[in-house]
Amino acid sequence: MPFVGLDFGGTAIKGGAVGSGGEIVAERSIPSALERGATDVMDRAAELARSLGASEGGALGVGCAGIFDRARGVLLESPNLSQLAGTCLTGQLGTRLDIDPAHVYLENDANVAAYGEQWLGAARDIADFMILTLGTGVGGGIVLGGSLFTGPAGRAGEIGHVVIEPDGPLCGCGSRGCLETLASATAARRRASERGLPAEDPGNLELLAETARNHAGAERELLFDIGRDLGHGLAYPANLLDLTCFVFAGGFAATLDLLEPGIRAGASERTFGERDLTLLPATLGSSAGWIGAARLALDAGATQVG
Ligand SMILES: [Zn+2]
Repeated sequence: MPFVGLDFGGTAIKGGAVGSGGEIVAERSIPSALERGATDVMDRAAELARSLGASEGGALGVGCAGIFDRARGVLLESPNLSQLAGTCLTGQLGTRLDIDPAHVYLENDANVAAYGEQWLGAARDIADFMILTLGTGVGGGIVLGGSLFTGPAGRAGEIGHVVIEPDGPLCGCGSRGCLETLASATAARRRASERGLPAEDPGNLELLAETARNHAGAERELLFDIGRDLGHGLAYPANLLDLTCFVFAGGFAATLDLLEPGIRAGASERTFGERDLTLLPATLGSSAGWIGAARLALDAGATQVG
């Protein structure tokens, strides 16, 4: 029986099925089309899960950006999925698929991405690490001792909101100078535009990276500075949890080679004692989320049987 996972995003709902040996047996996605309303989205998501093999009485894993009421399976807040706010994802999907809502496992998008990378991606066989997703914001997910560490309410790992510069830019969370206001793809674009980089097209991150790769100069310095802020951020989990392995996902992680010197310098400035850091690019791309969600279903199956 395959294990099915879904990953809800603002533009697409991705899903797939993985066999118990870790082989991907199906993968497909549908447009989120959130404007059609929550009921329609839930109908189509359930149909997607069914087409992937989710079956009556089984289990389903679901990844979704946002903040949940975990006990009730309700999505409370999500900037990219605001049309689904207030929706009981576990109940709505469970009812449509004849799956007990208690066997629909919901985690936030960065957490399932971490779990996916640990199962079949960059962190395969690494028991302790943190993923950082560098996209519109900065997300984080933690794996400790081979298990996803979510905290009692599922809100652990929000490294995007550790404060790096107390007087820095205002963050969506209400605080100032959070890591995501300095090192997300959005922030990098803003910082590049502020410095007029690259000169041909300020704020173009692909061109910025290409220029920085080709020669030393202001572009490379900017990426060093952003890396240094990331290093200051990951010094927190390094100091608190003794984490030394970090996986970078999301569009802006394509510049990891250029960010790395800054990350190492920044981390070294803020960690207690020397740390031998391992910095890895994620390898599953946008499939990491549904793969991690499918793993939640697999874990649950093992528990139910055991
Ligand atoms: Zn914040």
